Amino acid sequence: MKNRTAIVTGSTSGIGLGIATCLARAGVNLMLNGFGEAGEIEKLRSGIEKDYGVRVQYHPADLRKPEDIRAMVAAAEKAFGMVDILVNNAGIQYVSPVETFPEEKWNDVLAVNLSAAFHGSKAVLPGMQKNKFGRIINIGSAHAQVASKDKSAYVAAKHGLIGLSKVIALENATKGITCNTVCPGWVLTPLVQKQIDARAAREGISAAEASQGLLAEKQPAMEFATAEQIGDMVVYLCGSSAKLITGTALTIDGGWTAQ
Ligand code: NAD
Repeated sequence: MKNRTAIVTGSTSGIGLGIATCLARAGVNLMLNGFGEAGEIEKLRSGIEKDYGVRVQYHPADLRKPEDIRAMVAAAEKAFGMVDILVNNAGIQYVSPVETFPEEKWNDVLAVNLSAAFHGSKAVLPGMQKNKFGRIINIGSAHAQVASKDKSAYVAAKHGLIGLSKVIALENATKGITCNTVCPGWVLTPLVQKQIDARAAREGISAAEASQGLLAEKQPAMEFATAEQIGDMVVYLCGSSAKLITGTALTIDGGWTAQ
């Protein structure tokens, strides 16, 4: 993996940061992306560079804007010569029944969780095809395969990612490029912490009780998956053993979707 370059969207936090760290450990240069305080992001960037001896840059693309995504890919190609790996990880959540779901929230969730993967893939594919190597990994969810109420935009976007991944896989099946969806169950990140806090407030229980409740409802293993477990799967998919794994969805969900 030495001298490979990856863009990992939404890598200033949670699962994306875990994926970026695992790729760096494997020797991959990185373009980080995501929101956050400038000083904190610089600390992350320089920390990964120092800890793993790889080159790391940061791009502030807002993934709701296709022109920002194109600029990020161009910046990575300019800095590193090539983008070998694109991990479409950034995601946001909004919870409401359909009849009261705000339109702007629907548009934002679809833009970040689904359309950004299309725009990013469109921008990196010509370079990958020229180079006859590429790995596009979309971070789906158990909600890419099954639904929960009140999550219409998220579930629609994540189901869409599996379809998009299959099409990219087929179009590039003989070109050294694979495309897959990795589908985590609950991982304890800021995105899920917000849902735990909301449940604790709603039910008048502690955060610990709320997280047990969340797991009991969906994840038979009764423990959270970790960002590092997701990162290790991404590293595996980037390697030569995974050359023929394409167009599929790989779950890391403690049995959630087996039910
Ligand atoms: P998180 O909230 O910790 O991180 C999200 C990242 O996306 C952050 O870096 C944030 O700055 C970035 N981001 C959000 N909007 C953006 C935008 N418009 N432009 C650029 N960056 C933006 O979330 P997480 O839990 O680490 O989730 C990462 C991915 O994993 C998401 O796609 C999520 O749907 C998926 N996922 C999470 C879980 C879970 O349990 N945490 C489970 C299944 C799937």
